[in-house]
Order: sequence, then C-alpha cells, then structure tokens
Amino acid sequence: MTISETAAKIRSGELKAVDLAAEHLKAAHTTGKELNAFITVIDQAIERAKQIDEMVARGEDPGVLAGIPCTVKDVIMTKDIRTTASSRLLENFIAPYSATAVERIEAAGAVIIGKTNSDPFAFGGSGENSGFGPALNPLDRERVPGGSSSGAAAAQAAGIGMFALGTDTGGSVRQPSAFVGVTGFKPTYGRNSRYGLIAMASSFDTVGVLGNSVEDVALVEEVLAGKDSNDATTYDMPVPAYSRDLKESVSGLRIAVPEEYFSEGIEPLVEQRVEEALEKYRKAGATVERVSLPILKYAIAMYYVLVPSEISSNMARYDGVRFGHKDFADYDENLRKTRGAYMEDEVKRRVMIGTYALSAGYADQFYNTALKVRVKLTKEIETVFKSYDLIAGPTAPSVAFKLGELVNNLLQMYLSDIYTVTANLTGCPAISIPCGMGAGDMPVGLQLMAKRFDEQTLFNAAHFYQTSR
Ligand code: GLN
Repeated sequence: MTISETAAKIRSGELKAVDLAAEHLKAAHTTGKELNAFITVIDQAIERAKQIDEMVARGEDPGVLAGIPCTVKDVIMTKDIRTTASSRLLENFIAPYSATAVERIEAAGAVIIGKTNSDPFAFGGSGENSGFGPALNPLDRERVPGGSSSGAAAAQAAGIGMFALGTDTGGSVRQPSAFVGVTGFKPTYGRNSRYGLIAMASSFDTVGVLGNSVEDVALVEEVLAGKDSNDATTYDMPVPAYSRDLKESVSGLRIAVPEEYFSEGIEPLVEQRVEEALEKYRKAGATVERVSLPILKYAIAMYYVLVPSEISSNMARYDGVRFGHKDFADYDENLRKTRGAYMEDEVKRRVMIGTYALSAGYADQFYNTALKVRVKLTKEIETVFKSYDLIAGPTAPSVAFKLGELVNNLLQMYLSDIYTVTANLTGCPAISIPCGMGAGDMPVGLQLMAKRFDEQTLFNAAHFYQTSR
C-alpha cells in the first residue's frame, strides 16, 4: 500500500494508527535491532498513534501523513528525545526542540518510531564510522547499507517505517537508497529547512527522503518543502502538489548523460543496468544524449576540500561548554581530552583536513580555489540544463560493498560519492531509483538530476520508470 492509501484508511477509521505503530515498533525492536538500524526506538510512538486515532474518532483530519510510521536519522533533532548524530560526542544529548522537518511531518500526522543510525555527524558513505557500530544491509547482512543514512536505508528496505527522513550533503540519501534498493530523494538546496539539523557542511546540507516509491517520496516532499523563517536559506516559493501532478509520459523529455560517468572504476553490471534503464526512456520518446563535461573529474576533489572546511568550522561548538562532554574543569584540557576520547576517527580526520585547507598560507591554494571551481561547475551544469531537462547516470559506481572492505582504502571509499556530489555542489535536486540487479545480486541505482526547483520533472521521470515495469 502506498502512503496515501494507508493514510486514507486511517483517516476513514478503517485502519488504526495504533495497530500500525505497534507492528512497526515490534519490527524496530527485532529486525531493526539485528540490523543495528536504530540508535533509539521511540516507544512513545504508541501514545502519539492513539492521539491520531482519537482525532479521527472526533471527526478531525490528522493530515496527509495520518498515522504513517516513519523513521528519522539521528542527526535531525527531535524534542525531548535523545539525538546523538551517531557520535559518542553527543551520546547523552537530548534535543531541546524539533527540527522544522520533524515538526512538519508530525503536523501532517506522521508517527516517528525511531532515530536511525548513521555515520557520525553524517560523515561517511557506509555507516561504518558510527560511534554505535555499523548498520547492516538487510539484503545481505555482510554488506554495508551505504551511508551516511545507513540505518534509514536499512530500516526502509526491511519495511520498518513507511518512509525515512535522511540527510544528503554529498549523497547520503541517494547512495544508501541505491545500495538497499529503495527510492531516495535530495531536494534543491534551500527547498527544505535545515533548522534543527545538526550541521555537517552548511552550504551543502539538505534533508531528504527515502521511500518505497517515487509517489510516496513526492508526497512527503510536499509536506517538507517551503519557506521557514528559522532558516534564511529557504526560498519563499509555492510548493507544487508533486504527487498529485505526477505524469507518466516522458515523450519529448531531453536527458543528458555525461560520458565522464562511464570511465574507469564503474562496475560493468552497474553500467549495463543504467544503459538498459536509459533505453527504456528512449523507447518511450525521450531524447537521451551523451554530453561531455570534463569538469566532473574535479567534483570529488572540490567536495573533499570544501566539505571538510565547513565541517571544521561547524565542529567548533563541541567544546564542552556549548555541546559535547564536560569531564574536566579546565577548558583547554577538557577540549583536548574529550575530543580525543569521544570523536570518532573520521570526525577527527575531517576536522584536520578542513583546518589545514583553511589555514593561513593554504586557504588560497585549497579552499579558495575549490570555491571558484564550484562556481564554474555550477555554471557548466546550468548550461547543460539550457538544452536538457535532466542529467542521468548511475547513483554509485558499485553495488553495496562488504563490511570492512573499504575501511582501509579511504580514497576508494570517497570515490563512491563520485556521481552524487555534483548535485550538492550545485544545489540541484536529484533522485535515485532502483534499476535492476548488479554483482552479487545486489541492487543498482539510476540517478536523475534536474535544475534547481524543478523537482516535478525529476519526480515525473522517475515515476515513469517505476510504473512502466
Ligand atoms: N559520503 C559522503 C561523505 O562522506 C556524503 C556524506 C553525506 O551526504 N552526509 O561526505
């Protein structure tokens, strides 16, 4: 059942939100635990579900997500509930307020059943950096579910929660979605509020959605999108009824496929599945053309200079005064010792890389150069969108890898973001949808990217593929 079908049954009283919540909570405590998908399971969800049923009984309308069980990545704040960012640095942190994204889905009737595991502060692409141990891929528990929204993807693919809120700074919603075979969407930068999201890289961060279908994800995005007075980077633009307006025709759609996407490093079966998917678009009347965008070669390099730089600045607040542990009375001693003890290795690594890239003498060479190239990339992508509606390709160069396989090969690990970071560098919306199976019988993701604020075209094209099978 889709989210809207389920919500309709709850709004009519045919289905009880409390029964649905109980079922999903049970799965969170059993399968969810085996997969290490959750940091906190929210048993109070039962009370919340009861309230939804009571509203229905009183003849009130709880909203388009009435009684829909869902999960929230633990870098997104939930009032009065532990929010750890999957880091030991915040293991006891109780959020004083809820993120706007959380408030919006709750105002639409959603029932949050748990906080999902991830890489700490969303730094990573496999979930293995988590201070709480890695989440496992439900399709093959020896493999990672991708990351950093690893628990979100694991739970979603295991049928725990009907949608998952994740965050995408460089691919953390799309790549895990591809690795577990679900739909993952990252909005235009500034479309969804970041208020109450624990910052990673502020000019890249977005709140995104993982779901069972494009239709479900589009519906949740309608609830999330729009101006928020608490986030000055959000835009005051009307939010279309994405899910109602979904079109299945792609006739006349113009799709660009960068040839740089198919160079070394891509698994043959990933390439083949993506080609087959593109063929489907061609047959349905879309134009699919190869384009050359040599600048894409530098996307990963830009990303891994700019993102750690923003990280190093955002991590300054974990000093034991504002946030973090306060085990020692002396400020300097506390800073040194608690960061040493509670920051995961990847967190330390990124702070060090960012501090270096921003330091006097190196800022011009690294940070400022990367900023300039980011502007150039954005312009070149805009130029492509003058002639094309979408840019398509694989979501990731490989299928889900084995746990431990890349932990000692960081470069390879970072390269797993090679196709996803461009959307974050340029602020464009993008989606990953499953497009068949690759090596090891693991799912492959097709990525589509649209110009800023053109979410509708993105959803339409992805919906076409999902419903044409
Ligand atoms: N894997 C990427 C990284 O490690 C993306 C992270 C993210 O989107 N949060 O930076």
